[in-house]
Parts: sequence; C-alpha cells; structure tokens
Amino acid sequence: KRVVRHATVETVLATLDEDLTTPVLPAYQDLAAYRADGGYSVLSRVLSGEISADAATETMSDAGLRGLGGAGFPAGKKWGFVRAAPGPRLMTINGDEGEPGTFKDRWWLESKPHRMLEGAQIAARVVGCDKIYIYMRDEYPAVLEILAREIAALHASDIDTIPMELRRGAGAYICGEESAMIESIEGKRGLPRHKPPFIAQVGLFGLPTLNHNVETVSWIPDILHHGPKWFADQGWDENHSGLRSFSVSGRVKAPGVKLAPAGIPLIRLIEDYCGGMAEGHTFKAFFPGGASGGIFPAAMADRAMDFGTWEAEGGFIGSHAVVILSDQDSVRDAALNTMKFFRHESCGQCTPCRSGTDKMVRLLEAWETEADLYNDLLQVMGDASICGLGQAAGNCVKHLMQHFPEDFTAGSGQ
Ligand code: SF4
Repeated sequence: KRVVRHATVETVLATLDEDLTTPVLPAYQDLAAYRADGGYSVLSRVLSGEISADAATETMSDAGLRGLGGAGFPAGKKWGFVRAAPGPRLMTINGDEGEPGTFKDRWWLESKPHRMLEGAQIAARVVGCDKIYIYMRDEYPAVLEILAREIAALHASDIDTIPMELRRGAGAYICGEESAMIESIEGKRGLPRHKPPFIAQVGLFGLPTLNHNVETVSWIPDILHHGPKWFADQGWDENHSGLRSFSVSGRVKAPGVKLAPAGIPLIRLIEDYCGGMAEGHTFKAFFPGGASGGIFPAAMADRAMDFGTWEAEGGFIGSHAVVILSDQDSVRDAALNTMKFFRHESCGQCTPCRSGTDKMVRLLEAWETEADLYNDLLQVMGDASICGLGQAAGNCVKHLMQHFPEDFTAGSGQ
C-alpha cells in the first residue's frame, strides 16, 4: 500500500479497500422476498382490526412467549403493563447482544431481519407506542447496514408503519441492561438506573416504554399467524413452551445457533443438535447462560434448559448462551477469565461491583483458597449492587467452589 504522510481522513479512506469500509453483507431475505413469502400480512390484520390489541396480548400470554434477552419476563404481561400506562409511549428494541457466548440475534438479523421488524411494528401498534428505537451493537456492521437498508425500504413502501430509528451502541456490555440502554439512547453515559420506577412507567425520555429483545419480537408474527398452541406445543414437554435459539460454543463438534425446543435437556442439545463432543474431549462443565449464568458440572446436563431450572441452582439461563468445557479446560481459569470480563465491564457506579469484581480477580490471581473471603465478597456484591451485572458477576466463582473443588485449589492457572 502507498504510504500516506500527513494523512487526512479522506486520504486514509482512499487507501483502504472498499471491503474494509463497507461490510460484506450475507445473503439475507429482503423486503420483497419477505413479502412474497407472506410477510407483513399479520401486521395488516392488526392494522385492520381483524386481530384486536386485547386478542394479540392474550395470544402472547397463551403462547408462553418470554423475554429472550435473558430476563424471561412474560411478553403478554409486559404488554399489559405498558398498555395500562398513560401515553404517549415509546418502544425500544435491545440489539446490544453483548453477553459472552451469545450470537443468536446476529444470526437472525443477518438472515431474516423482517421477522424482527414486523414483530416490532405489531408490538408497537398493540401497545400504542409512537416510535421505535432499535439499539444495535456497533460490532455488527453487517447487521447495521442491513437494518439501515431495510428500515428505509419499509418506510418507503406502502405499508403503514410506525417510525423506526436505528441507534448504534459503543461497545459497553452494560448498555445491554435496559435502563442503561435507555440512558445511552438519550445521549448520556450508559449507567443503570435505580428501580423502581420501572421503564414500563418511566422509560425513554421519561415516557412509558416497551422494551424487547430482538428474538422475542421476531416470534410475534409467527405466533399470531399460527396461533398460541402452535408455539407452545413446540416446547420439550408440557412444562416448557416454544422454540429457543441456543448459541452453542466450546468443545462440541458443531457449534452455532441451534433452534431447539425450550426445556430440552442439555445433553440432548449436545448430542442431537451439536454432533456430540469434539474429538478427544470429555464433557466436564458448562455455562448455561453466558458469563453471568454460572458454571455447572456435566452431571447436571440432564436438566431442562429453560427459565427456572438454573435459578433454583443459583444461576440462570439468560440469553441461552451455552458454553461447553471439557476435561482439557480448567474451570478455575474460566472463572478467572469471566471475572476479568466483569471487572472490565463494570460501569463503576456502585462500590460493591466496582471494587468487588476487582477484589475477586485479585483473590483468584493470588491463588487464595479461603472460601470465607470469597463468600463475604459474594454476599456484599449480590445484596448491594445496583444492577444485575454486580449481582450475578460472582456466580462463576460461587459455582467453582461449590461444584469444582479440585479446580478451585489445583487448577492450571498457577
Ligand atoms: Fe454499574 Fe456494576 Fe453497579 Fe451495575 S452493579 S450499576 S454495572 S457498578
């Protein structure tokens, strides 16, 4: 490449390959293809009144659709709360997919972006929101380009739409927390707010706000089209409703996004959807829900992968980011790495999290094995942190001591 002295932005850009400044887009279903496949017909039925707001809300509850960004809050109930709040109202879509190990929203948006856009339009209509803000992580340049193109195409079409605005995140994990995301959209530092009030009452720009994850809204058109039973029946058994997009990584033969029944036992997910363990690796441990959901031993892989199962064990499934570790991995190293991540991503607003994550890293690095020191710290972080980051950051260390005593005292990190 030509060396540019005293470069201006223009001269630097002129020397870059076009591929570096314009993302290469995957083959995805654009507006014309989505409409040819029946897309936006459900929105039309909502707009015409054929599907009433009450019926749509009830359908979400009957289908058992839950928040798939991690919290698992029932979608129908959330719609009811925000509809009950006095207008004007706003809607936000949380596309700040930052939980380590999670990549399902990117997969959906790089293949079928209009599922999400139609779902968002339907939800905003039903709940009575005047505008939709889509907050996307900046690390997904192809998704940003696809959404910019397709939102423009949608607004220019003959479809009656609620205005949508695309906002870029700036790489902070904490902006995946809904109130921090709202602060960021408002142009401020992404610091989580104290709750209450919840954003359903006082959200974006002080207005009642309906916030949903990308995958959650993507299911809305299908559920309204096929009916709640169609969705609910796809769960593993009668205790689990619907399909889930699992992001599976680690020591399996075929990692990736796996569309599987809610509640599937992890061992079946590994064997039936991921081709089993990678050659030469014996299943040892797993993160069921990214960095914050904790680490569990392979002996617990017969349990249901759904909300509720892991909370009872002091963890959670969150955004369904499953990371598989083998006999060649040190759980202690994995826990230390996870704590370093949280130390880096703590917004610093409250002491239990800001200092607690740092202290936890230092204890692990110093090879401290006195459990009481960790337990005191875990309790303070869990009880007194403002948001979920600080409250859940220590899960991996708690489980390291509880389930992997050998790794706790004799891992490979020394
Ligand atoms: Fe910020 Fe951590 Fe406190 Fe959350 S718990 S507000 S991330 S310092």
